[in-house]
Amino acid sequence: MRIFSGIQPTGRKHLGNYIGAISQYVESQDRGESIFCLVDLHAISVAYEPAELRERLYDTTAILLAAGLDPDRCILFRQSDVHEHTELCWLLSAVTSHGDLNRMTQFKDKSQKQRELVSSALFLYPVLQAADVLAYRAHEVPVGEDQRQHIELMREIARRFNERFGEGTLVEPDHRIPTVGARIMDLQDPASKMSTTGGTESGTVYVLEEPSRIAKKIKSAVTDSGSGVHRGEGKQGIANLIDILAAVRGTTPDAVEAEFEGSGYGDFKGAVADAVVSYLAPVRERYAELRPDEGELERVLSAGAGKAREIASGTLVDVREAMGVGAPSGTS
Ligand code: ATP
Ligand code: MG
Repeated sequence: MRIFSGIQPTGRKHLGNYIGAISQYVESQDRGESIFCLVDLHAISVAYEPAELRERLYDTTAILLAAGLDPDRCILFRQSDVHEHTELCWLLSAVTSHGDLNRMTQFKDKSQKQRELVSSALFLYPVLQAADVLAYRAHEVPVGEDQRQHIELMREIARRFNERFGEGTLVEPDHRIPTVGARIMDLQDPASKMSTTGGTESGTVYVLEEPSRIAKKIKSAVTDSGSGVHRGEGKQGIANLIDILAAVRGTTPDAVEAEFEGSGYGDFKGAVADAVVSYLAPVRERYAELRPDEGELERVLSAGAGKAREIASGTLVDVREAMGVGAPSGTS
């Protein structure tokens, strides 16, 4: 069983990333061969500061290590260190339909938010993402709900490649989307997902944020004028807090509703704030220890890239051979 996922090195990872993705990465180390990639080449598809990209990449690497990724039990690397990803992206673009890319919700959402340039990279993002996963012939991809459509497309790309160029060359991966907390919503705008690039500042809880700010954001979360700690019509804000509490406690939304039956919003929000603060506190502490040693972070990433390249280069040999690209294999 091989597990692969990528995360953008935007540094300020939030509670949605942590619950939807990072916590799944950590537990996947016990379930199979786990490979995680900091996707810096995806991060350049929207406006960014070159001088900051490396800093934020170190921040994100340290967050992942602080969360519990262990370089002895997983492969952790930087996407741009393994050139096979970009080569495979181009090769797969030959079996990716333009119409499918046009239908991607993430492209529609993010292209609307770009002020100066809607880059082709943003349009091709799902093809590079397909290459990230397919290069490792991964079986499973732990992601949040927002990535379901991209994983579907990735499966379609693998299927089309295999039909056209040779059955069994690429593996169609399954998504692994958590049952609780797969889509954490913005605390100030519970109709939109909590997001690194698109959300509101006061509605986004960052993994590394001061406990007092976290508590303040949760206690000021938008709810509704009614009462009753339960999910239902017009109660998206409360439903989101129920999900958050269930996810950080490792229980179900039903159990949270039962526990807070009859409670007011104030008490409930206080309990959610306390739970989130203690959930993130150990990560913040370990991060402070790990982040200053950039030499060590580089060492982890480059060792990871070496292991990743060994796997990906084998896939590329097969893909090039199947497509009739380059010299026939066996000659050199
Ligand atoms: P952006 O909004 O700019 O795309 P992001 O917040 O989605 O940034 P990514 O690095 O793209 O951050 O996502 C990393 C992982 O976190 C992905 O698996 C994604 O599905 C998951 N994820 C992102 N937002 C949420 C959320 N609000 N709830 C649960 N999971 C999420
Ligand atoms: Mg995203």
